[in-house]
Amino acid sequence: MSGDLLVKNVRPMAGAVVDVLVSDGIIRRHDRGIEAPGGCAVVDAQSGILLPAFVDGHIHLDKTYWGLPWRPHQAGPTVLDRIENERRLRRELDLKIDVQVERLARQAISRGTIHIRNHVDIDTEIGLRNFEGVMAARDRLKGAVSIQVVAFPQSGVVSRPGTAELLDRAVKEGADLIGGIDPAGLDRDPTGQLDIVFGIAGRYGVGIDIHLHDPGELGAFQLRLIAERTRALGLAGKVSISHAFCLGMLDEIELGKMLELLVENRIAIMTHGPGDTPVPTLAPLRAAGVTVFSGSDAIRDAWTPFGTADMLERAMLLAWRNGFRTDELLHSTLDVVTRGGATVLGLEGYGLEVGCRADFVLVPGETLAELVVARPTRTWVVSGGRVVARDGQCIL
Ligand SMILES: [Zn+2]
Repeated sequence: MSGDLLVKNVRPMAGAVVDVLVSDGIIRRHDRGIEAPGGCAVVDAQSGILLPAFVDGHIHLDKTYWGLPWRPHQAGPTVLDRIENERRLRRELDLKIDVQVERLARQAISRGTIHIRNHVDIDTEIGLRNFEGVMAARDRLKGAVSIQVVAFPQSGVVSRPGTAELLDRAVKEGADLIGGIDPAGLDRDPTGQLDIVFGIAGRYGVGIDIHLHDPGELGAFQLRLIAERTRALGLAGKVSISHAFCLGMLDEIELGKMLELLVENRIAIMTHGPGDTPVPTLAPLRAAGVTVFSGSDAIRDAWTPFGTADMLERAMLLAWRNGFRTDELLHSTLDVVTRGGATVLGLEGYGLEVGCRADFVLVPGETLAELVVARPTRTWVVSGGRVVARDGQCIL
């Protein structure tokens, strides 16, 4: 359902007050004093700000304990500790994956997120169970939220024989991208894992999004391997690297060389601005022309007690983590959680211009910088012309 909708007295990107007319899910007109056509729903925005819908470019919907009783964090400090702890909890808790995915997706919608890239856990213990849960929930939420699915080998690829076949099957059965994780640090076989990941991408013509936590030179070495393969296989524009902590650990000369490599191969970088490790810094990446996007990553699961699936809060965290204070820099974080994500996810008709898909968020506020700082309640969230959340509540 996507009837006509007229948003009166609204300020797209905090600009001048206009009315915005939507029909058949598309933005048709921006003008002053538009008369509502017959049967058209009317919303008075009261000079609120209109933003394009948020893009959560990296989340783990199928891991979350959202909506379940509070669970104290139990994992040790390393990535390996957290993987093992999660495997144990998965056996104990036996979550209904599709229910959990839907719960967290609804929370994301209530905060103005309409487009998601989800890394779904696949390993030899759970097989494609999480993948199937995500696909079922994605079907049920179709039309309200778009979910890209990355087949993600959380427990490693080469080090867990049988995983490569499962990843291949997931992509064959509809996963949109193939993922990877610390080819050196976790699998101890960077070329082995990358051969499998790029092999699957080549076989099915899908994009790639690799988790890379490995630090310093070890991480940089793998970035170079990924760039080489991206170039050799003509995959420029289809490869993303998530986290890339190593970019926050290189000296200026090394970082400059690395950024050139990323730009040349149009490799995008996802950062969620964690507080406990060096991270890629936004300003130099964006100034060099690297596409940067963001996401919630883990939310209230075995990995972290934190997270609200709120990309406006994420923009604030990015600004906080990068030490941003000026309006211009605060704006840049809004761009990361909207257009940056839309570029990487390849969303067509994204934006607030006439002819774009009517996916937008209405918030009270004065300026864009103020929104990042204050994170007001989302008054209206519209997906394809249909109201999907009101006053911070998902109404699907
Ligand atoms: Zn992740």
